[in-house]
Amino acid sequence: MERINKPDLSVARKRSKSEVDTINYHKNQSIKNLGVGKKYLIQTHGCQANEADTEVIQGLLEEQGFVKTKIIEEADLVLINTCAIRENAENKVFGELGRLKSFKKINPNMIIVVSGCMPQEEEVVERIMKKYKHVDLIFGTHNINRFIEYLDYVMKERKPLIEVYSKEGDIVEDLPQLRENRFKAWVNIMFGCDEFCTYCIVPYTRGKERSRRKEYIIKEVENLIKRGYKEITLLGQNVNSYGLDFTDEVYQFSDLLEDLGKLPIERIRFTTSHPKDFNDKVIDCIAKYPNIMPYIHLPVQSGSDSVLKKMNRKYTKAQYLDLVDRIYAKVPNVSLTTDIIVGFPTETKEDFEETLDLVKKAKFEGAYTFIYSPRKGTPAAKYENDVTPEEAKRRLYILNDLVNEGYLRGNKRFEGKTVKVLVEGYSKTNKDVLSGYTENNKLVNFNGPDSLIGKIVEVKVVKSKTWSLDGEIVKKEAE
Ligand code: SAM
Ligand code: SF4
Repeated sequence: MERINKPDLSVARKRSKSEVDTINYHKNQSIKNLGVGKKYLIQTHGCQANEADTEVIQGLLEEQGFVKTKIIEEADLVLINTCAIRENAENKVFGELGRLKSFKKINPNMIIVVSGCMPQEEEVVERIMKKYKHVDLIFGTHNINRFIEYLDYVMKERKPLIEVYSKEGDIVEDLPQLRENRFKAWVNIMFGCDEFCTYCIVPYTRGKERSRRKEYIIKEVENLIKRGYKEITLLGQNVNSYGLDFTDEVYQFSDLLEDLGKLPIERIRFTTSHPKDFNDKVIDCIAKYPNIMPYIHLPVQSGSDSVLKKMNRKYTKAQYLDLVDRIYAKVPNVSLTTDIIVGFPTETKEDFEETLDLVKKAKFEGAYTFIYSPRKGTPAAKYENDVTPEEAKRRLYILNDLVNEGYLRGNKRFEGKTVKVLVEGYSKTNKDVLSGYTENNKLVNFNGPDSLIGKIVEVKVVKSKTWSLDGEIVKKEAE
């Protein structure tokens, strides 16, 4: 019998007051060696939360003996970890699923899996069931820990399985992970989102906000330090509301930064920050601990108060700029970047001018800019969209020109200075050149021996460009 459990957005929208438990992952001992002699390929779309999920999925597969491949023709299992944030992200996935059909014709035993945010949407699951019948397994964001059980069923029964939970479950600790990077690691500190920005699908696809207990986070970071990791990035949709869901203790994001800042990890970053919960205690931590990096991604979305209100962002332009001023005052060397949406319903030319004005005043050194994309099930999808696609594009180009000036200005200020670079490997465009990121998250290319890969070195910046810096090695290893 086919197993089908489809998502329901009306259930996903609800927020229960019930406490979230933490449980430990235990491998199902009756399922062993599912992947011996088999290869897998994973395609990851979207944000860092998906990248971190992919590392768990890889860990689960390798525990069963699967081996990773980059060659689709030799893959026995292909998994697409999907993103639902904008329509074009979804279209890319449907395009990929279409392409996979021909590979499955050549290799009918190939198992095709769709996971991540898209399966949490009712219509996506319907569409896959109707038009992409070559997909074997669909599961969502709330039941990754059960992936191997589902895979076992699909491989043994040779029948499709759809298992999507609309409501988040407990926090599952101790899941196996195969990390992509040997020096930098993602560390989830919380899951889900309770903000309900009116344009955003994330609160529906990722469930209610729930914070991981500090003991587990600290243990994970200590293990990473033992394994030689140099940098961690703390992940959450709104890291500044970390811990606000605890009912039995007062332990917030600034407390976590205090505890992690004292550990011997060279670099701590975090993303994403919601401006409304970013308090002075967090700014003080960044100023106080040299291992908390002077780089903050602080999505603003718009500079217009009326648009911000319709987006349900819960701050005004003046409040945002006041926060920015407080950050610059205490962390003068900081680099700020942001996210901005143009063409949100009702955004007038004057509203857009307010956004441009804010971008200038906040002195951003980079931004991800997007044209608003209606997402079914969100409140904004029902708003009348009176900004034409041509006008939205025009605004995006104007904004991007201004943002690019910020990238260049942010890079130029390091010209002639010596910066610390965590060397990640060779430059993507030149295999003889090393590259890595500075404390302010600037990409630097320079010549040096490959023995420096994985180390933090001092580099003198000799030239700045819009997207990167050129440097010369000063000291082989920074203290
Ligand atoms: N939680 C983060 C925050 O509050 O900014 C990031 C969420 S989302 C993964 C990343 C960015 O996608 C958002 O900051 C927003 O700018 C953009 N985004 C979200 N929904 C969108 C939509 N419907 N259309 C266009 N851009 C969107
Ligand atoms: Fe989406 Fe807003 Fe939550 Fe960010 S804070 S994930 S933009 S709802």
